[in-house]
Order: sequence, then C-alpha cells, then structure tokens
Amino acid sequence: MQLFEKMEKFIKEIELFIQYGVQESERQDALKFLQRYKNDALALQLMRVFYSSLPETHEEAITRISLLQKKEDIFLLGLSTARHSYLYFATEQKALLLGEYGYEIVEPEALALFGYPDIQAFFEKYPALISCVEYEPVGVTGTMFCPVCSAAVGEHHLLGCPVEVCPWCDGQFSRCGCRFEKLGVEILEDEEELEELERVLEEKGRVPYCKEQCPSYPSGTDE
Ligand SMILES: [Zn+2]
Ligand SMILES: [Zn+2]
Repeated sequence: MQLFEKMEKFIKEIELFIQYGVQESERQDALKFLQRYKNDALALQLMRVFYSSLPETHEEAITRISLLQKKEDIFLLGLSTARHSYLYFATEQKALLLGEYGYEIVEPEALALFGYPDIQAFFEKYPALISCVEYEPVGVTGTMFCPVCSAAVGEHHLLGCPVEVCPWCDGQFSRCGCRFEKLGVEILEDEEELEELERVLEEKGRVPYCKEQCPSYPSGTDE
C-alpha cells in the first residue's frame, strides 16, 4: 500500500476510535489535534496505537506530543492527555507503549537504547514532559530535522553532512577549507585524521542543527 493511502486509512480509523473511545466533551479537540498531524505518518501511527488501546476508564483526548529524543529513525515520545501522560517508542512503521509517564516503565531495556542504564537515570533527565519540546508535525515546517542526515534541532549533524555549518568561518563545513587548515594537511585520507578532525571540531564547539539551516526554511517575516 502506498504511504499516502495508508495514512488516509489511519486517519479514518483514528476518527472512528475517537468517536467511540473519547468522551464527548473532548471529542472535538481530539479531532482537531488529529488534523494537525494528518500529514505525519509517525504521529498517526502513535495516535492509532493510543486510541485503539485507550484505557476504558480514561476516555481522554491527546493534547500534546513531546519529543524527548531521537535515534536514527526511532523516536522517544511523550504523549499527554488532560490528566495522564505516557511514554512511547515510535517509528513510521510502529508505535509501542513503554508505560505511564513517571510510573512504571514496562520495558526499561528500551531506554538503554537511548543511553539510560535505568529508569531513575531517565526520569532524572526528563522529570516532566512539559519541559520537553513539542513534536512538530512534518509538512508544517518540515524543518525539525536536518533534511540530509536527519539530526533533530539541537543535535549535531553526522560528520560530513553538507548542512553542517563551520564553526570557524560560518561557511558550509563540508566545502570550506577550514578542516584542512586545522589539521595542517592537503587532503583527509584516513580514519585517524577524521577522528582528529572530530576532536578539534568538538573542542571548538560544533554548530548543532537549527531550523534556519534548512534550505526550505521560510526566511524573513513570513512567520
Ligand atoms: Zn545534517
Ligand atoms: Zn570553515
């Protein structure tokens, strides 16, 4: 099935789940929230899993999706309703509930993938979802991730990503001459030189990805 058809199907399913699962007073908000993410396969996947397994006694609408961390194409997301919050793993193919936020995490091993040895370490870093950035739907700005290496806003690009900005000359790091100059070589040829480059680059302070670096970011006053 084409992605587009699949997303259309998901939207219909989620609308049905909302119709039958969410209390009437929150139904309109739930549908409005769904509309906001209608072009985002990952968010649809997440909402479908949430609403299809909604605890019967809760009947709540999703009010916010928070982005905690991202590793390759796996996202660690928080999902909030008016009175509860949950932690999820999600990709465009699958979403998995890890547990109710702040309480029990069903699969603590999953957090190890993101570098947290245990639940305590994790909740120390993320005590509350509200302090995390909101997960923005793709297609609205489409710039929350580097279009080339998909680093998230605030993260470092993969070394060699053409979008990375040079911290020495503000040029395009993969094109300017700074890397040769800093290492005192004509060309970069081996692993060791690359490691050395990464070291001096980090020492100087790499420029993390931000929306303004995205070529399609609307510049000027259109926001
Ligand atoms: Zn990049
Ligand atoms: Zn440079």
